[in-house]
Amino acid sequence: MPAGRHKSRTLRRVSRKTPGAKTTLQYKKRKPSKAKCGMCGAVLSGVPRERPKKMQNISKTKKRPERPFGGVLCPKCMRKIIKESIRE
Ligand SMILES: [Zn+2]
Repeated sequence: MPAGRHKSRTLRRVSRKTPGAKTTLQYKKRKPSKAKCGMCGAVLSGVPRERPKKMQNISKTKKRPERPFGGVLCPKCMRKIIKESIRE
C-alpha cells in the first residue's frame, strides 16, 4: 500500500531496479502536454515532451524541426503563412 501522500495520481509511478537488484517504486513528476501548432492546434511532431530541466540538456536541433516556424507552426500553416506573405 502506498503512503498516504502517494495515493493520488498526481505523480507518475516508475519502477526502477536498485543496485541490490530489487525493484522499487519511484514517484516522478508528469511530463508536460504535447506541443501544439499556434494557428490550428495540431500536435507538433519532432518536439520532445520533457520537463524543463531535461529540455535544458537536450541540444537545440533535437528540440524542434529546423525549418521556418519550426516548433511553433505545423508544416501546413507554415506553408500558408509563407505563401500569403509573398502574395502581398
Ligand atoms: Zn497548424
